[in-house]
Amino acid sequence: MTSIFENLNANQRDAVTSPASVLQVLAPPGSGKTKTLTSRVAYHIDHDGIDPSNILVCTFTIKAAREMKDRISGFIGQGRERQLILGTFHSIARRYLVTYGQYIGIPKHFGVADTSDSLAMIKRIVKNEKLGIEPAKARSRISRLKARCISPDDYNTSSSRAEEHEFALVYGGYEASLRASNLLDYDDLLLRCKDLLYQHPQCVSNLAAVLIDEFQDTNLVQFDLMRLFAQRRNKITIVGDPDQSIYGFRSAELGNLKKMQEEYGDYHLINLEENYRSSQAILETAQQIIEQDESRHSKKLRATHCRGERPTFRKIPSAAAEARWIITEIKRCRNLTVKLLGYSDFAILLRSAFLSRHIESELGKEGIPYRMVGGVKFFDRKEVKHVLDYLRVVHQPDHNDAIVRIINIPLRKISEATVEALLQEAKEDRLSLWDVVRKAARGERRPRTKLSSATQKGLETFTSVILTLQARQRASTNKNQSEDYSLKDLIECLLKKLAWKEYLRKAHPEEELETRWANVQELIAQASEISAAISQGEGFMEETLPPAEGADQRGLLPSEDALAIFLGNVALSTEAERQDDGTTELVTVSTIHAAKGLEWPIVFIPAAYDGSIPHSRAEDTDEERRLLYVGMTRAQALLFISCPMKSSQRDQTELSPFIDDPSTAGYFSPQGPTYDSLAIRSLAKILHRSPPSEEAIEEARASADLVEDDLWPLDGEEPTPETSNWDAFLGQDIDTLLPITKRRKIEN
Ligand code: ATP
Ligand code: MG
Repeated sequence: MTSIFENLNANQRDAVTSPASVLQVLAPPGSGKTKTLTSRVAYHIDHDGIDPSNILVCTFTIKAAREMKDRISGFIGQGRERQLILGTFHSIARRYLVTYGQYIGIPKHFGVADTSDSLAMIKRIVKNEKLGIEPAKARSRISRLKARCISPDDYNTSSSRAEEHEFALVYGGYEASLRASNLLDYDDLLLRCKDLLYQHPQCVSNLAAVLIDEFQDTNLVQFDLMRLFAQRRNKITIVGDPDQSIYGFRSAELGNLKKMQEEYGDYHLINLEENYRSSQAILETAQQIIEQDESRHSKKLRATHCRGERPTFRKIPSAAAEARWIITEIKRCRNLTVKLLGYSDFAILLRSAFLSRHIESELGKEGIPYRMVGGVKFFDRKEVKHVLDYLRVVHQPDHNDAIVRIINIPLRKISEATVEALLQEAKEDRLSLWDVVRKAARGERRPRTKLSSATQKGLETFTSVILTLQARQRASTNKNQSEDYSLKDLIECLLKKLAWKEYLRKAHPEEELETRWANVQELIAQASEISAAISQGEGFMEETLPPAEGADQRGLLPSEDALAIFLGNVALSTEAERQDDGTTELVTVSTIHAAKGLEWPIVFIPAAYDGSIPHSRAEDTDEERRLLYVGMTRAQALLFISCPMKSSQRDQTELSPFIDDPSTAGYFSPQGPTYDSLAIRSLAKILHRSPPSEEAIEEARASADLVEDDLWPLDGEEPTPETSNWDAFLGQDIDTLLPITKRRKIEN
């Protein structure tokens, strides 16, 4: 077992062992906040004698939660970490609602509406009501209102403009369709959990310690939740960094830090000042950028690592060329460092998910394995999403939206107009769409709109698929078969019933079949993994909570079945979670937002142009700067920032003003790393790895293809006719290789 105090400096140790009931650790990136938080959890268990099941730990991303679990199990012994209530705010809230939601009238088997579910509902309302509102904007506006606990009624009464009334109509309609489909959206999870804990404090009476990472990005509702979690015994630890606040656009309240200090007057504050993550050169450059914001409090931050190489800044002629440069640099870096680095040591961090298009394409062409995080989600790919929708309906037949999406997939001659008519009838008769569809399939529907016999048959086929699977699901739960077997089996049975592979073959171009089918197989693999984890008693967000003290336990869900847990997990996965078991070497392509709290030896940040970062639609420029700061401070040893001189959005770009600022003069190098023996040794030191031998380095340098530098003009100018390499390369621009329409299709 590792010691709790291993590798902790004096301040960190103070934080870990602090007897304070309210502790705040505010410190810059890489100073060991998460490490300290993790160690404090272990200390609570080991020293304070708190049972792991009475500790609630909140992290921002599912990935961070997993990492934390691993670290904690290293401290307190394999297995005990499973008893912790550990997850994101959303997953923890869901877990409380699954267990105790019935106290406040939340029906059993509620589903979670993910972003695309919500958007689809809003689109339908806008269309039906013939409103001129943009659905995506309406969605984020609704979410902002919900975060501030403003209901449709509250909103309506306080507004006078016509546009606002229209919006209130959408908001009200949206809430009604969530209820009709027995769904909670992300905001509801938090709000309803808040209601629950407020009305039934006994649900959290067991909690003795509450710890929250990345506190700077909590919103008001999350703040209230924290307060409710800790309402009995206020042993609270929060860690955060105001300079890394990047979720203001999603109603995160930087003010929560201040609020915390006001409400808990007796808090104890600890600062950490040493950075253990990045080279001094990277740290100082990032520091230059964050200090452009004059309104912030300046903070001390010392590097513990050696100077290292200056971050590279490169202008590149186009976005496609930029992607090629990055991939060439990754290969070059691996070769010249004599494989000191594996693919999983590289991350490409993007301001916006759409920027991954060129990068993914280049990685694919070069056969470099990668995983995309925070972009087009794996679960959003059509061949996967539709299968999930079938499972949703099996689990929860009143999920109207899921039914609408799949009722005619594969094609069953059920037109949109028919679906609309059925929906209308459901609304009028106060039935669920499923009830109406079943009636119609049995020929019991009132003949308001005549159904052709083909449509009638289509409805029959659809209901028979769902009913068969439901029967199977019930049988397997009753027989208490191995869950792993039953969930995998259920999905395979579904695919067979739908002739899914045949459908994919017909519905999409032949060359896409393999990838799409592989995705479906991946889904099955994930389902099996989840149910295997459940049968071993694992799962930070699935486990049933302990019974509430003195609470009436009758009628509460004993535990969820594998299908419910699987669907819950899918809805809350914030990442394209192609489960990697740590053995596969994958380059990470991620949005900066999703990279929060994480670190990689080598980091690339492309598209550093004005309009990309800061984003043209961003309201808060300081938040955009903090975003760049978060991206830069993910890097341990090497950092590359680049700017294409033209992009798919604009013919001519301007450099990001954060980079193109006098404060950064001299901090970036246009040349890129030298990869000489000294540099490689310092790189190895930063990463705590042993460097390759001098001979191996020399050999690698001798055989390196040094022509490459001609390929990438330093100033981003268009190539001159003399640089023939350049011409050859431009001829391979992926824009000319893959027409946009086709690319879109693949992405979908
Ligand atoms: P961020 O703000 O980006 O979330 P953080 O403050 O949470 O950063 P951690 O992720 O906890 O920082 O730590 C950064 C790195 O430094 C990790 O690799 C961690 O293991 C290492 N580290 C932290 N403290 C120490 C220490 N005292 N000695 C050695 N390494 C340390
Ligand atoms: Mg952290």
